[in-house]
Amino acid sequence: MKIKIKLLIITSILGLIALSVIQGYLINNTYKLKKDAFISETRGSISRIDDYSPTLDSIAEIWQDAFLNKMADYTIGKASKEDIIRTLENTIDSINVPYAEKYQEELLKKNIPYGIKFHKKIKAFIIQDSTRNDTIFDNEKTPRNIILGDFIEKDKAINVSNTLWQTDYTTDRVVDGKQKNITFDITLLTNDVMDIEGWKTLVFNRMRGLLLLSLFIFAIVIGLLYYSIKSLITQKKIADIKTDFVNNITHELKTPLATLTLATKMLKTDNVKQQPEIIDNTVNTIERQNKRLQKLIDQVLNNSLGYQEIKLTKESVVIEDYINTLLNDFELSLNDENVTVNRMFSGKTKTINIDKFYFTTALLNILENAVKYSGNVLVIDCQVTADKALKIKIKDNGIGISDKDQQQIFEKFFRAGNKEIHNVKGLGLGLYYTNQIIKAHHGDINVKSKKDKGTTFILIIPFN
Ligand code: ADP
Repeated sequence: MKIKIKLLIITSILGLIALSVIQGYLINNTYKLKKDAFISETRGSISRIDDYSPTLDSIAEIWQDAFLNKMADYTIGKASKEDIIRTLENTIDSINVPYAEKYQEELLKKNIPYGIKFHKKIKAFIIQDSTRNDTIFDNEKTPRNIILGDFIEKDKAINVSNTLWQTDYTTDRVVDGKQKNITFDITLLTNDVMDIEGWKTLVFNRMRGLLLLSLFIFAIVIGLLYYSIKSLITQKKIADIKTDFVNNITHELKTPLATLTLATKMLKTDNVKQQPEIIDNTVNTIERQNKRLQKLIDQVLNNSLGYQEIKLTKESVVIEDYINTLLNDFELSLNDENVTVNRMFSGKTKTINIDKFYFTTALLNILENAVKYSGNVLVIDCQVTADKALKIKIKDNGIGISDKDQQQIFEKFFRAGNKEIHNVKGLGLGLYYTNQIIKAHHGDINVKSKKDKGTTFILIIPFN
């Protein structure tokens, strides 16, 4: 059964882990989808802003003009490739700030509710005329950061598009004193890049509902699992306690029943019938065993009562007299020289209202346990203080109770340490009942104990 429960718990936990992994995977996929949708949405909104903006267009013309002029110089050998690239870099540098500002103005017009940085990076440009294709700049081969727009950190850059700008250009140049008409085509390749400020938060915000719902469902599943496992363990504990109880009570009933069988058999024998002395003894034995059986049944019936079911009939008792009488009777019942009972009384209050019958049962349960669970020489210290409340400390030097068992000894049917002390008779009801009686008196009971060193029970009963 224990293995079955363990297996069940392990399987459930593994199932939960598998479920979490799947859930995590699904959330991650949703995140990716939402992110892609968000980026393409933004891409859609900003694409071709510069195409449709006359201001940006006019800025673009400034750098294009300077750049194309230098190209024309290049075709007649008056400028090098490096000159063209430098011209491009310089003109871009000079228009960069107004370009970025105007771009932001255009973004504002689009009512996009989050910040976007944008730039165009020149990837390559090629000059073409009737005779040749001449690559002036190729970023792949000779990397250079020719960028128009905002600065964007590499890890934040989101690709928008690659654009191809093609145009033909015609101009005049004086070559060897003669006016010469120059015509060429130019292809310029750019890469448009954006950075959406705080896009992760924006995507998470869009997923908030889903995340909260998953978390909620997850919490419910964990809660249910926890509750089921807890109930299972409790059920198992109760089942164990019941089995223990049945075993204990069977054990307890066996001895008096066996004695009764033997005694009745004896009474039937002719030999015994002739001897009144033996008959007397046997009848006494039958009476004793009968009482024992009765006591056992009473114990099961009464000692299972909860404190609400205990109806107290309180009377005023003189504390010292009451405890002294109780301890005297207890000592008398022991017939054991190896038990010493010490008494100490202090405090100003003399009397208390208690139900004598129940209270005596409670104290006797503790005292009888001290004897049951003692070593060879037993010393019981009973310390009574009657000040603000009645405090009774009953200390023994017996076998003690482990820390773990101390937490359960007041539970119904609980017997500590199980096997090794189970040659000591008991049903695990005594301390439960004692606790209920003390509770019915609105009091409190505590235990302090160390294994093999002894146990102290502390009872506190209020005076009103
Ligand atoms: P029972 O004595 O019938 O088993 P109780 O409810 O009286 O049941 O006690 C519960 C358990 O607490 C006992 O089984 C025993 O293990 C432990 N116990 C109680 N009193 C003492 C004590 N004075 N010293 C050591 N163990 C004790």
